[in-house]
Amino acid sequence: MRWEPISKPTELRAWSNMPDYEQVRRAFDWTAARSQLSGLPGGRGLNIAYEAVDRHALGGRADVAALRCVDKQDRVTEISYGELRDRTNRFANVLRDLGVGKGERVYTLLGRVPELYVAALGTLKAGCVLAPLFSAFGPQPVYDRLQIGEGAALLTTPRLYRNKIRQLRADLPQLRHVLLVGDGAAEPGTIGFANALAQAGTEFEIPPTSPEDWALLHFTSGTTGRPKGAVHVHGAVVAHHTTAAYALDLRPDDVFWCTADPGWVTGTSYGIIAPLTHGATVVSDEGEFDARRWYRVLAEQRVTVWYTAPTALRMLMRHGPELASRYDLSALRYVASVGEPLNPEVVVWGQEVLGLPVHDNWWQTETGAIMISNYPAEEVRPGSMGRPVPGVEVGLLERGEDGRARVAHGKVHELTGADVEGELALRPGWPSMFRGYLHDEARYAASFADGWYLTGDIAARDSDGYYWFVGRADDVIKSAGHLVGPFEVESVLMEHPAVAEAGVIGKPDPVAGELVKAFVSLRPGHAPNDELRTELLAFGRRRLGAVAPKELDFDADLPHTRSGKVMRRLLKSRELGLPEGDLSTLEKAR
Ligand code: AMP
Repeated sequence: MRWEPISKPTELRAWSNMPDYEQVRRAFDWTAARSQLSGLPGGRGLNIAYEAVDRHALGGRADVAALRCVDKQDRVTEISYGELRDRTNRFANVLRDLGVGKGERVYTLLGRVPELYVAALGTLKAGCVLAPLFSAFGPQPVYDRLQIGEGAALLTTPRLYRNKIRQLRADLPQLRHVLLVGDGAAEPGTIGFANALAQAGTEFEIPPTSPEDWALLHFTSGTTGRPKGAVHVHGAVVAHHTTAAYALDLRPDDVFWCTADPGWVTGTSYGIIAPLTHGATVVSDEGEFDARRWYRVLAEQRVTVWYTAPTALRMLMRHGPELASRYDLSALRYVASVGEPLNPEVVVWGQEVLGLPVHDNWWQTETGAIMISNYPAEEVRPGSMGRPVPGVEVGLLERGEDGRARVAHGKVHELTGADVEGELALRPGWPSMFRGYLHDEARYAASFADGWYLTGDIAARDSDGYYWFVGRADDVIKSAGHLVGPFEVESVLMEHPAVAEAGVIGKPDPVAGELVKAFVSLRPGHAPNDELRTELLAFGRRRLGAVAPKELDFDADLPHTRSGKVMRRLLKSRELGLPEGDLSTLEKAR
């Protein structure tokens, strides 16, 4: 069933950043979009941090609030653009004094605290590459990512350092400097962040930065293998800025809250960079999701534009309209969502309870910025991800037996016309396109065919060019908006002495979208029982943190392909009671 489209008042057309979608799309070009930004003085290139901080600080907006960070105790730290310029200059000086050079990776493993924002932007000023990690990751994902990206410096807290890094530091020879934020016992071999910042100078000249210089390293997961480090360049800021104008309707006087953690790409592209390039005020909340807390932040901070995720919206919806009505949400003018399928009920709930429909949009770590979106002045079709952003060409490709785009003699078949379904593909050329997977040319090359970037998602297109998400063409899991690679989880489980083999799937869940569920077979001498199940789940949590399995079943007879891989697809069909499908590659059916 398709839901009734939600139309927009005509005044919005005149007022919005994109009065007419079709017209803007036809006339759009990325070179003109680039001219919305200033570039480094003296024609020395394009640097994300200059566009986000210095051009406002030096352009008469030094006293405007750049950041409002709400901590767990509800205390608010406000930092103006002028202060942010000083602090990020100081951090760039710290890195330079430590000898962390251009292109070297600086990692953050921090909650959403002011220091995270200072370090992120200071790193970009210094010409180093920012690699933000999710602080709820366990030691194994943290170690793998530091190792793959050869982190030269890391900013974290004493507690996270003790729990996740200290024991492994000897195995990370590239990691020359660890800076610690906040109170806590001094740790040998680390540097106090506050002290280092206080001693550093407030003047820093951003070195010449080419739009092709590396800026960001974001980790993502595939069906197999270790995490992939997607590299983004400084030129990506053109896409961050432009898409925030069109898809989020951002303006300089907005108070903008993106609820994603900067450890995931949304939390960096739109939680830090894009809104600051518009000179808006960015709200961040250190606390975890709680319905009352989130409504309170929206109300007390007078948030005008809110970018969040389906899991959170579904949880708010569960609390009913009465809770929302207790808060003054009158400042809110635009709501958008990303990261997982947004059910039409939630879009309509937004309209009824917040007085605003939720605008779904679609993108991925690799695309660096929003690619498909619903727009402020255009009707919203509940359940649809919307239409391509200006400057981006989207296609649907015919799929082969493995579910991915069929490539024959280097050619793909693009499905044209209406009401077609295929693998979602994008024509490379927009500025925030990833430039490679670090040290993994083969996987990068395998993401392209016949001039298209293949997204791994399956989508349909209706007769008006709106795209509808159908599913993933591979086995990656989306749990509460977080992308989880089954291989990473399986590898950890298999390190437990009782586990012979593991298969991990996403099990549909009404709130989180999917839950991580593991099936394991045991080594001889180990019996499947509740005690072992609890132990394995705890083992997973200790090693993996937030991406650990929530459920675990024993299965002495895991299905395999002829090439010996556990068939996750079949485990999933069995879990859901669905037909088992084509089992021709199955080694041994039950
Ligand atoms: P990530 O790289 O972690 O940002 O995850 C990207 C993936 O999240 C996409 O390839 C989709 O599978 C999923 N995703 C992102 N946005 C949406 C959306 N609006 N609707 C459905 N799935 C989405």
